[in-house]
Amino acid sequence: MNNPIFRALPSVDRLVRAAETEATELPHPELVRLARAVLEETRQRYVEQSDDPPPTLNELSAVVVGRARQLATPSLRPAINASGVIIQTNLGRAPLSDAALQAIAAVAQGYSNLEYDLDAGERGSRYGHLNALLARLTGAEAALAVNNNAAAVLLVLACFCQGQQVLVSRSQAVEIGGGFRIPDVLRESGARLVEVGTTNRTYAHDYAVALTPETAAILTVHRSNFQIIGFTHEPLEHELRHLAHEASVLWIDDWGSGSLLRPERYGLAAEDTVQDRVAAGCDIVCFSADKLLGGPQAGLIVGSEALIGRLRKHPLLRALRVDKLTIAALEATLLSYLRGRAEQEIPVWQMISAAPEQLHTRALRLAQQLETAGHTTSVVACQSAVGGGSLPGETLPSWAVGLERPAGGAARLHAQLRQGTPALISRIVNDQLLLDLRTVLPDQDQLVLDVVRAALAT
Ligand SMILES: *Cc1c(COP(=O)(O)O)cnc(C)c1O
Repeated sequence: MNNPIFRALPSVDRLVRAAETEATELPHPELVRLARAVLEETRQRYVEQSDDPPPTLNELSAVVVGRARQLATPSLRPAINASGVIIQTNLGRAPLSDAALQAIAAVAQGYSNLEYDLDAGERGSRYGHLNALLARLTGAEAALAVNNNAAAVLLVLACFCQGQQVLVSRSQAVEIGGGFRIPDVLRESGARLVEVGTTNRTYAHDYAVALTPETAAILTVHRSNFQIIGFTHEPLEHELRHLAHEASVLWIDDWGSGSLLRPERYGLAAEDTVQDRVAAGCDIVCFSADKLLGGPQAGLIVGSEALIGRLRKHPLLRALRVDKLTIAALEATLLSYLRGRAEQEIPVWQMISAAPEQLHTRALRLAQQLETAGHTTSVVACQSAVGGGSLPGETLPSWAVGLERPAGGAARLHAQLRQGTPALISRIVNDQLLLDLRTVLPDQDQLVLDVVRAALAT
């Protein structure tokens, strides 16, 4: 405490008064806490290394103000996705449609009939709101929404397979990412995994010989984020349906990205829709609402009235249930499908279906504007990815603006754009920084220009 530098430091009171000359949005007691912490850290530093001159009041005040502003700024912030990956889990997956946003606002601003039956004037169920719509769109009898697809799979296995065996092909005992591993989820549900077949070839016969009186289900899992090519075999759908039926076990399908639209209509590889999986005879199909469906985070479960009814009564459901904002956004998103307007209204499908010529026009305009501002650009043909554990390996032709020879290099500019307001996420290909227009919402082009200009100006 005798260190003379300590005496040169301002008092807490003085430091707070200095900080309060700047706008920080924080009340006095919070600034006092920050000032105390900053002074304490400064003293600590000088105990360890006391050669430097003591910081001035202005320097210390700037630190307090900086921290105050950081504290008052939300950690979760909007970002512009110019990476070209449409469904990006790190960037929040699917942007919501206008209709979904309006539905959220309408329900969030006041009260709603979340669990109230307006016709009967008595208690209703939050699980009823989406049932008819999902059933109609998927061809299943009934449906249930939970927190996400991981929760959907967990609930289904816990409800129907606890203490029993579940057959999974070795090629499907996979990790999806973000800690979702089929063997782990099975274990947590209380079911026992029985692997059948080999990594590349699994036959109906492999399932048949593994079936025992202990078997509760056959679980098939969408190969969301990888491909198996070459010498491969999988049982046909009717073989699986027949096997499950004969043995009186369930066929549970984790259809991951679960699209309601046909990807092949948009130049992507053909893949079964959720409707196809229901029609193929899966007893239960689980899928994500925020991947190719293009809605809010949720897991959707469709199946027979009897099976969904049992899920609705399972105690775990209470812990996995969706909130009203999710239900509102989901219902609005599903209504776009019902009206045949998904491609026009749902951002994920607007991005997938955007014509390369449109993207080229936007890229030319943005490049031109940046050139006018004095920067060297190019307009580059590139490939966007669907991403997010959907349609692995599938890309779409797109156009990007390349920023040429930025001062300090592409990696530095990439980081600067990331720090922009809003954050702008770009992609570096062969040392060139690209802004892929396919994943930039069309009304964000001006924002992109502003963020790039601000970054290039520093
Ligand atoms: C994405 C995915 C999951 C996890 O879904 P979340 O909605 O992220 O919980 C599970 N299974 C498959 C096959 C997936 O693709």
